[in-house]
Amino acid sequence: MVNSLVKLVYLLNVRSETLDYDLSDDLLALQDVARRFAADEIAPHARDWDRNADIPRDIVAKLAELGFLGIFTPTEYGGCGLGDLGASVIMEEIARHCGATALMLDAHNALCSAHIIRAANAEQKAKYLPCLARGDYLGAWCLSEPGCGSDAAALTTTATLNGDQWVLNGSKHWITNGHYAGVYVVMAKTKPEGGARGISAFLVERDTPGFIRAKKEDKFGMRASDTVGLTFDDCRIPKDALCGTLNEGFIDAMKVLERGRITISAMSVGLARGAFEESLGYAKQRQAFGKPIFEHQSIQFMLADMAMEINAGRLLVHKAGILSDAGKPSNIEASMAKLFTSEMATRACLNAIQIEGGNGYTKEFPVERYMRDAKLCEIGEGSSQVQRIIIARHMLDI
Ligand SMILES: Cc1cc2nc3c(=O)[nH]c(=O)nc-3n(C[C@H](O)[C@H](O)[C@H](O)COP(=O)(O)OP(=O)(O)OC[C@H]3O[C@@H](n4cnc5c(N)ncnc54)[C@H](O)[C@@H]3O)c2cc1C
Repeated sequence: MVNSLVKLVYLLNVRSETLDYDLSDDLLALQDVARRFAADEIAPHARDWDRNADIPRDIVAKLAELGFLGIFTPTEYGGCGLGDLGASVIMEEIARHCGATALMLDAHNALCSAHIIRAANAEQKAKYLPCLARGDYLGAWCLSEPGCGSDAAALTTTATLNGDQWVLNGSKHWITNGHYAGVYVVMAKTKPEGGARGISAFLVERDTPGFIRAKKEDKFGMRASDTVGLTFDDCRIPKDALCGTLNEGFIDAMKVLERGRITISAMSVGLARGAFEESLGYAKQRQAFGKPIFEHQSIQFMLADMAMEINAGRLLVHKAGILSDAGKPSNIEASMAKLFTSEMATRACLNAIQIEGGNGYTKEFPVERYMRDAKLCEIGEGSSQVQRIIIARHMLDI
């Protein structure tokens, strides 16, 4: 009996160590900084940025001052050296007020810088990471093409070695930060017969001859985030612009995307929280049939579902972040977090519009913007269908 009790106490202690739902004091302080910044510097302007389809450069400089352009970048290169949990905390707060600003940060940190941190050599890291963290320029990450997005290994951009230069030819599509970036991680075929094992990554600088940026896409949501197509027309880059191992670039790209899904999930949670907080405030003020609409049970039920799903989504995101930060497998957790939170965010935003009625349907109120922004999270960095495929394939192994 005593022995069983000792075992039980031991098990409870182990569980309380491993199931700690509180953020550390450091992460709470980081959350507070991000929350204040988003409320003071982003919220008052986000509607105009959406209308003008642009994020002003001075806000990028302010984000750099906070360290938010070097979230994952090791401190030796001037970054914050945070992990996926820390990044999730920041991304939720920024997305709470502006999905487009969060998407800009996502492509810069979780795609471009993360790929360089993972795969680049020491000289490349020393050359690019401090500039990216300081905000000298933004970074972009270029996998998708006009002919392929989900089936990314089918890309057709080529890189051919010619003397001491690589020659790039082909097109990329939907590239976030593509208009403003200073450095681009570009995936290209280096062994066309090799399929996914014949793709390499390259670091391409903005002003390279033969590198052409198209005009910004006119999008449904995430309008302030710049999205462009890129063309490489006999674009010559140095031989040492190869980033990572020759023909192994697709593996790095998939690993980058795996972690990136944690960050984009946190964005979804932030957008859902924005929709929830705005519509809760509205429901407490707006009168119908002699009382605040919050007192009508069907409105309460919508808000209760939103609150529950946001909490559930955040737990999935944080679990994936904690596993990833501990160096444990987190691929399935990241896919589950991405799938659940992105679809949950769209639901929450649609409910928020419903709660706000005609007002919610206008651009005077932010929830319609959150809804347009949230929809992207179901498409980018692996659509909902792709996440279901990843999760289902995993079941074959269990
Ligand atoms: C605003 C925005 C920003 C982006 N930023 C970047 C970026 O910075 N860098 C970058 O490289 N890319 C970027 N993308 C591209 C994005 O990653 C792709 O749009 C996404 O991967 C989907 O690819 P696709 O649009 O070509 O759709 P497709 O692959 O053509 O898919 C179309 C539909 O078919 C479904 N589908 C495809 N295959 C299957 C299957 N096997 N089973 C079931 N359904 C399937 C998809 O889920 C989707 O619903 C961005 C896109 C947008 C819209």
